[in-house]
Amino acid sequence: MAAAVRRAAARGLRIRPVGTGHSWSPLAVTGDVQLDCRALTGVVTVAGDRVRVRAGATLESLYAELAEHGRTLAVIPDAGGLTVAGAIGTGTHSSGAATGSLSAQVTGARMVDGTGSVRWVEGPDLDAVRTGLGALGVLTEVELRTVPMRLLQVHEDSGDPTELLADGGMLDAHAWTEVVLHLPSREALARWGDPVEPGLERESGRRDLVRAAAAGSAEALGRVVSRLTPTLRRTARWGGSVTGPAYRVLIDRRPVRGEAAEWALPRERLGPALRELGAAAAARRIELRSPVLVRVGPAETGWLHPAWGRATAWVALRGLRGADPGPLFALAGAVLTDAGGRPHWAGRHEWTLAEVALAYPRLADFQAARDRFDPDRRFACDHLDALLGP
Ligand SMILES: Cc1cc2nc3c(=O)[nH]c(=O)nc-3n(C[C@H](O)[C@H](O)[C@H](O)COP(=O)(O)OP(=O)(O)OC[C@H]3O[C@@H](n4cnc5c(N)ncnc54)[C@H](O)[C@@H]3O)c2cc1C
Repeated sequence: MAAAVRRAAARGLRIRPVGTGHSWSPLAVTGDVQLDCRALTGVVTVAGDRVRVRAGATLESLYAELAEHGRTLAVIPDAGGLTVAGAIGTGTHSSGAATGSLSAQVTGARMVDGTGSVRWVEGPDLDAVRTGLGALGVLTEVELRTVPMRLLQVHEDSGDPTELLADGGMLDAHAWTEVVLHLPSREALARWGDPVEPGLERESGRRDLVRAAAAGSAEALGRVVSRLTPTLRRTARWGGSVTGPAYRVLIDRRPVRGEAAEWALPRERLGPALRELGAAAAARRIELRSPVLVRVGPAETGWLHPAWGRATAWVALRGLRGADPGPLFALAGAVLTDAGGRPHWAGRHEWTLAEVALAYPRLADFQAARDRFDPDRRFACDHLDALLGP
C-alpha cells in the first residue's frame, strides 16, 4: 500500500481507498487511482479484549474468527460483507442505546498517510480516524475492542409507534432494538434482543432466520400495507423469537436492493421528526411505500461521526426497486436536517461544507489532523472537496 501511494504521488494522482464499495454516496469514487483494499484480509492477533485485524477483512469473517476464540464485537451492523476499514470510514453502527458504532471500538490503527509513510495511530488522533471518510490515509490494520461471545435472543411484535419510539422507551431498554415503521398507516414492528445464557434460550428451531423473516415483513410493509397482518401471523409461527450468536441472528444476507439514506437525529427529536416527515410527504403527495427503519445509539467521540456528542436515533429510508428515490430522499433530507439530523456518510444526501461546518463542532480538529496526515490532499476527491473543502 505504501508503495502504491508513493507511485501515485510521483505521478501527481489522487487516491481513493475502497472496500466493498457498499456506500451509496460517491465517497470512494475517483477518476484517478482507486486502491482496492479487499485483499488485506485475516485476523492478526486475538488477545485479551483486543483483536488486530487487517483492514480489508469483511465483518462477517471477523465475527466468525472471533467466535472461535469465544469473543465478538459489541456492534453488529445488518450487513456482514462490509470491510472493517470501510465500515469504520463511515461510522457504521448497529442499534442499542449503549452500543457504540464500529468506529467507537477502535483502539489503534495502522495507516499509510498521504506521504506514503506508515503510522500507528492512537490517542486523540483516533477521533479523526473513527469516521475518517478515507480522507486521512489507507488503513491497513485495525485494533478493536472485543467482548465475550454470548447468545442473543431476539423477539418481534407489532406495537403502537408513539410508545415504541418514545425517548426512554422500548428502543432504549434492550441490548439490541429496532422499529420498522410504515409512516402513512403508522403500523409498526418492534424487534428487540438481549443476551441469554446457553441453555436458557427458547428454542425456536429457526436460528439465523430472524433477519430473513423480519425483512420479509418489512418488504411486505413496503409493498402492500394490507399484507402486514398476515405477515405478522406468519412470523408468529416461529414464535416471534429466535436465539443464536448475535452475528448470525442479526446479519441480513439478502442481496442489496435499492438505494438508501440514513439520518442521525438527536434522540429526543425522533417522534416529532417522523410525524413531520409523514405530514410533509403526504402534503407533497410523495409516496412513502417503503417503511423507515429506526435504530438508536449512544453519543460518539469520532469528530465526524454523525452521532458525535449526543444520544442518537437513526432513521433509514430505502428506495424501492425501479422507483426514483430522489424526491423522497430530498424531502427527508430537508425535514430531518431541520430536526437537527446529520446524514450517514454512506447514504445518499446533498450536504456540503456549509452544513458540515454548522453540524460538526470538531471539524477544525479533523481538518488539522488531515493537514498533518495528508498535507497534499492525496486522498481528496470531488465528493470530499464538496464536504470538507480543499
Ligand atoms: C446492505 C447494506 C447494509 C448496511 N447496513 C448498515 C448498518 O447496519 N449500519 C450502518 O451504519 N451502515 C450500514 N451500511 C452502510 C455501510 O456500513 C457503509 O456503506 C460502509 O462504509 C461500507 O463498507 P465498504 O467496505 O463497502 O466501504 P466503501 O463503501 O468501499 O468505503 C467507505 C469509505 O471508507 C473508505 N475506506 C475504505 N477502505 C479504506 C481503507 N482501507 N482505509 C481508509 N479508508 C477506507 C472509503 O474511501 C470510503 O470513504 C450498509 C450498507 C449496505 C449496502
